[in-house]
Amino acid sequence: MIVFDKVVKRFGDHVVLDHLDFRVERGERVALIGPSGSGKTTILRLLMTLEDANGGVIWVEGEPLTHQFKGDTLVKPSQKHLRAVRSKIGMVFQQFNLFPNMTVLENITEAPIHVLGKSKAEATERARQLLATVGLRDKENAHPTKLSGGQQQRVAIARALAMDPDILLLDEVTSALDPELVADVLGVLRRIAETTDITMLIVTHEMGFARDVADRVLVFDEGRIVEEGDPEQIFTAPRRERTRSFLKAVV
Ligand code: ADP
Repeated sequence: MIVFDKVVKRFGDHVVLDHLDFRVERGERVALIGPSGSGKTTILRLLMTLEDANGGVIWVEGEPLTHQFKGDTLVKPSQKHLRAVRSKIGMVFQQFNLFPNMTVLENITEAPIHVLGKSKAEATERARQLLATVGLRDKENAHPTKLSGGQQQRVAIARALAMDPDILLLDEVTSALDPELVADVLGVLRRIAETTDITMLIVTHEMGFARDVADRVLVFDEGRIVEEGDPEQIFTAPRRERTRSFLKAVV
């Protein structure tokens, strides 16, 4: 579903991802953990084509997202191609990024109508189903500013799912929330993980959540994977000292 093949990302002289290799299978839930600044968010931003790689190749469902050599010719993916690949990927950010001047329902139906070309009736019906999934059936006419952070984040999750993505990227989705609101948002995500086969890449500091939801955990440090394994092994019997010291600091 996703392949990173020797991906390099630099900001100026700072090498953020250093020949990074990993792959994610269809339907897999992979948690990316590791200290702040280790390159986790950059991976999600590369997949969303919010950043360009400096080297290597990224593949999504067999389609390249990056420049590649075909023989001696450097081939750059077209904007149309990138839009098509990107439309298969949904992302939920730490800051919910809802449109403040639109109602909850309008936030969710905007892209399905304008990007996917769904009718208003069809988009509204799907949005109502998703609002039920995230426990906000009675909020469709509210404006985001009238909602708690946890409610806003649940709207953002519904909005991402409304595009029927094959891949969902979650970037520290509970970091901006008051502690008492975290459980609701994680509960919704657990339910989505249980009831769909969406491939998920989850950047999180919530180790309990990573342990519950992930099939596999990748531990990052300084733009490299220092350890990977199933959650049970990583959290109970980490092999690397770097993983042990990271887990000691966050748990
Ligand atoms: P993480 O998600 O693991 O905390 P990030 O991927 O956000 O790490 O960042 C990795 C490194 O890249 C950090 O050192 C960060 O300062 C740097 N970085 C990220 N985005 C930019 C940018 N737009 N310009 C310069 N440096 C950046």
